[in-house]
Amino acid sequence: MTFTDLQLSAPLLQALRLQKYEHPTPIQEQVIPLVLQQRDVLACAQTGTGKTAAFSLPILELLYQQKKNGAAHTSARTLSALVLAPTRELAIQIEESCRLYGAGTGIRCLAVFGGVSQAKQVEGLRQGVDILVATPGRLLDLLQQKILSLHTIQTVVLDEADRMLDMGFVRDVKKIMALLPRKRQTLLFSATMPPDILELSRSMLVNPLHVAVTPVSTSAETVDQELYFVEQADKKLLLFHLLQNNDMGPVLVFTQTKYGADKLCKSLCRQQIKAQAIHGNKSQTARQQALQHFKNGGIDVLVATDIAARGIDIDQLPYVINYELPHVPETYVHRIGRTGRGGSVGKAISFCSTEEKTQLKDIHKLLAKSIRVNQQHPYHAAGISLATQPVRKHVSQQGKKKKGRNMRKSHNESLHFISR
Ligand code: AMP
Repeated sequence: MTFTDLQLSAPLLQALRLQKYEHPTPIQEQVIPLVLQQRDVLACAQTGTGKTAAFSLPILELLYQQKKNGAAHTSARTLSALVLAPTRELAIQIEESCRLYGAGTGIRCLAVFGGVSQAKQVEGLRQGVDILVATPGRLLDLLQQKILSLHTIQTVVLDEADRMLDMGFVRDVKKIMALLPRKRQTLLFSATMPPDILELSRSMLVNPLHVAVTPVSTSAETVDQELYFVEQADKKLLLFHLLQNNDMGPVLVFTQTKYGADKLCKSLCRQQIKAQAIHGNKSQTARQQALQHFKNGGIDVLVATDIAARGIDIDQLPYVINYELPHVPETYVHRIGRTGRGGSVGKAISFCSTEEKTQLKDIHKLLAKSIRVNQQHPYHAAGISLATQPVRKHVSQQGKKKKGRNMRKSHNESLHFISR
């Protein structure tokens, strides 16, 4: 299938050519036609699947059609679509994507998020906006100040809804939903579908079509995963060893805590390794700057906590290192999903200490396989591997699929689609 088959207009097709997207991803193949039919959609898809384009392309198409066919009065900008995102980083990325894809359409997109002064955002809103990307808190602030109103919204997207609930935004989201017109299109994207998301979707979506890409446990098939058994006290040395003896390019390192991220960052800098940390205690400007430095090669290592890293979209990120294993196994998959994007090969290295054996067991259970152990390093802690029961390799239906699948495979292989 090509993007032309999806009935997208010339300016959008041109933008996709510039982005060198040749074929729609599975989620795009399914979601784009449904959004164009103005149906409500409940989509289970995580970052890395092309979900942003799956909702932004058809929204841009619908608005472009309206502008093209509309009477003179519609040439003025009307706030027509709202995308809610849990973090500022994700909001900025969605806005950037909408701008790229909609470059030739005359449609204007703006992101509003907290942590920065609202003056520039208010000025942007005054100039007229068609698609607004917002984090819930800042949007509510602006609504309470009557700086904008949502009564003209036709389509609303809830992106990364599970993360939105995890971060305690459920009340804010419900308040925002209550301010939207009843007659509207609603799209909900979530990496996981726990009961609270299904409940939320029931209260927001009307006769939704359900779309799902492969579950979280099998999504990272393009990522080469390796496990390093190492005692906590040796982790720093192992990290220095890896960074100093391999030409790794940019490396995203995950720590469990903000304090841990700062401490590790300082140690790396003392070793003359160019590193910066991003986490919730850093100002928005500092986070943006660190991300920018990382993207343009100014630093080699970005140390991040999970919330701060959520939504980071860096093309060509060859390595992710789990300096500490997460307590929620799904988080492991989200983390390693930062690499191996868009069909490129990525590598995820995970350090596991004696104290982290339980986390490892949970990750293996979710993946339904054991991660390959690399013993070829000076800090190998053999005791951990011996004490860790090998997980019987259970190859699930999805696990049987070929490795190295890229995003361009037919949706039949990786996507099921249930219509209600
Ligand atoms: P997302 O899941 O929206 O975070 O997108 C993940 C990455 O895939 C982004 O870097 C996009 O630029 C890229 N991408 C999205 N759609 C396509 C496509 N059809 N072909 C190739 N890359 C894509």
